[in-house]
Parts: sequence; structure tokens; C-alpha cells
Amino acid sequence: METEIIKIEAGQADRQTAETAKRLQYAGKVIRQGGLVAFPTETVYGLGGDALNPQSAKKIYAAKGRPSDNPLIVHIAEMAALDKIVENVPEYAKRLAAAFWPGPLTIILKKSDIVPKQTTGGLETVAVRMPNHPLALELIREAGGYIAAPSANLSGKPSPTAAKYVMQDMLGRIDVIIAADGTAIGLESTIVDLTGKVPIILRPGYITQEMIASVVGETNMDSTIFHNQSNKAPKAPGMKYRHYAPKGQLVIVEGTPDHVINYINSQIQQHHQKGEKTGVIATEKWAAHYNADSIKNAGSKEEPQTAARKLYTFLREFDDENIEYMYAESFGDTGLGQALMNRLLKAAGHKVVKV
Ligand code: AMP
Ligand code: MG
Repeated sequence: METEIIKIEAGQADRQTAETAKRLQYAGKVIRQGGLVAFPTETVYGLGGDALNPQSAKKIYAAKGRPSDNPLIVHIAEMAALDKIVENVPEYAKRLAAAFWPGPLTIILKKSDIVPKQTTGGLETVAVRMPNHPLALELIREAGGYIAAPSANLSGKPSPTAAKYVMQDMLGRIDVIIAADGTAIGLESTIVDLTGKVPIILRPGYITQEMIASVVGETNMDSTIFHNQSNKAPKAPGMKYRHYAPKGQLVIVEGTPDHVINYINSQIQQHHQKGEKTGVIATEKWAAHYNADSIKNAGSKEEPQTAARKLYTFLREFDDENIEYMYAESFGDTGLGQALMNRLLKAAGHKVVKV
């Protein structure tokens, strides 16, 4: 299959020029006819197909090489669309949507009959989100209102935060790639299960537990999020797969700064003696202290936004640089730091060294 690249220059997305509108109309038609289109959102690039067409869901799983029990998120552009794909919208779901949509919050509710089981990985529930990106919203409207879209990476690889990474993974596998700016957040949406009395966060993200609790009161966190409990199935099926992973081996090192720096540098020395290439993800304060082949500056610990936005790019760059052994400082675990640590832990296969 030949993949068509639709490039939309910076500044053309917001202004909705006639040319951009025409291109989105075309891409929407590709989706309505059962094709696949990768597009930017404010979190990461999505790989979109018609959410109400079971064949499109099958194609998405095939393009990603993703197990078909791993459900897709349905993206909508209007509040009214939610009523059609879920059985009923509880009052607290309406309040959450009003507070955070369009934005990086995915809600899970009981699905209605028009949503095929192929889209929901066989589940009776459906995950829904309204993305906060002008191109994504327009594409959803042009595609008929419901786009099923997981992240536009090959299964197991880091989610793509730039069009070039989508191309690396998806050229020849899908119909169209919309290449544009976006992905200001860089981590996937927060997923919250609203099928019970109290919301349960299944995947942490930019919208934090505190932010959700401030709108609807008590909010719980799924207990499998930060631990590698192989005997306990996570409620968000995707969380069980090794995910977001670079090709080399990543280890998170926790401790006081001097202990962390000394430990990582002694490991690096051993790797270099064996001719192995090394990388470090460091906070800006300590980045200059490491002797690795490749050092990624993740900004300050107090502002995890920077590290969140860059994490997947760092992991992809390590791959491109053929780095075999990587070490990361740890990034605190409050607010957005929770989402960041959750993805780092998954990328590291939960390998943490305390020094
Ligand atoms: P991705 O779009 O690649 O970020 O993956 C979407 C993730 O959302 C899946 O891997 C699941 O973990 C989660 N998800 C989607 N639908 C459901 C659902 N109905 N119930 C629980 N988790 C879901
Ligand atoms: Mg994904």
C-alpha cells in the first residue's frame, strides 16, 4: 500500500484555510470509506479509522501489529455524539466532560449497540475522548463523527510525538498520514472508568487525579498502575503489554543526586569497557555530570511538562542512535509526574535500582 502524506504547515491548522479544509475533507472521506488516517492530537499522533465500522478496527489492529483484545479509544468532536455511542451519560460524566473536553481525558462508559465489539476489544464498555486539536476535531467531523484511534505507533514502540516517527512505523501500512505540528502534551490521555459510583483512573495522564477529584469528589487510582503485579490483570487492557519501549535496556535509578550520578557513571564505565553505547535521561540540574554517549535533558523536576513532552522523542532518539543501555533519573510522583513515572516504568519494564 502506498501511504499518502498530507503536510499541513504550522499556522495553517488554526486558521482553517480553504486548502487545509479541502485536505481534511479528503482524509475524512478516506476514513468513511474504510481507510486509515494518522493524525496529530494534543497528546500523541493517533491512527484513525471509522469507529462504527468493524472492518476499520480490524485494519487498525493489523497496521499496528496490536493484539485485538486491546480496545481502541473513540474520538468525537461534539458533546451530542457521546449520547449515541454510550448507553447513558451519568451526571458526573457530564461534569467531567464539561470541565476537560476538548482535552486529554478519556472516559469509559457502557457502550451502545452501534459500537462494534471489534472497536472495544470485545468489551461491553467504550472509551471516548474529545481531543483538543483543531485538525483532529475537523477530521472527526469530516469522517462522520466517530474515529477510533489508538496511538499511531507499531505495537510495543513508543507513541509517536512527531510525524517523522509515524512515518517510520506506518509508511506502507496505512492510507494517509497528516503531518503537522501538535502533540504539545506528549503523553497519552488520562483514562478514567466511569462505570461505577466512584471514578477510577486506569491510566494516569496530563489530567491528574487531583484535577478530576476537584470536579467530582472522590476519585480512585487503579492499583495495578505503578506496580508490576503479574498476577493481577489491569482494568485497562493495554496496560498489561510491555509498551512505550526503546530497543535497548532502560533502568530507572532512584536516590540522592550524588548517589544516582555515581551509580550511573560507574555503570556507564563498565558498558564502555565492553564497547556498549550508553544513554541517560537527566534533569537539567545534573545532566552535565554524566559520561554517557547520549544525554537527554528533561528539564527540571519541578516542571514535569517538559519531560512528559519529550520522553517518547528521547526513547526514539536512543533507538536511532543505537544506544544499548539507558539510565533515567526518577521524576517525583505527584501531579503530571505520576503519568511520566508510569510511562518510564513501563518503558523500563519496571527495572528500578535504589541507590
Ligand atoms: P492507545 O489508544 O494506544 O493509548 O490505547 C488505548 C487504551 O485505552 C487501551 O490500551 C486500553 O488500555 C484503554 N481502553 C480503551 N477502551 C477501554 C475500555 N473499554 N475499558 C478499559 N480500558 C480501555
Ligand atoms: Mg498506544
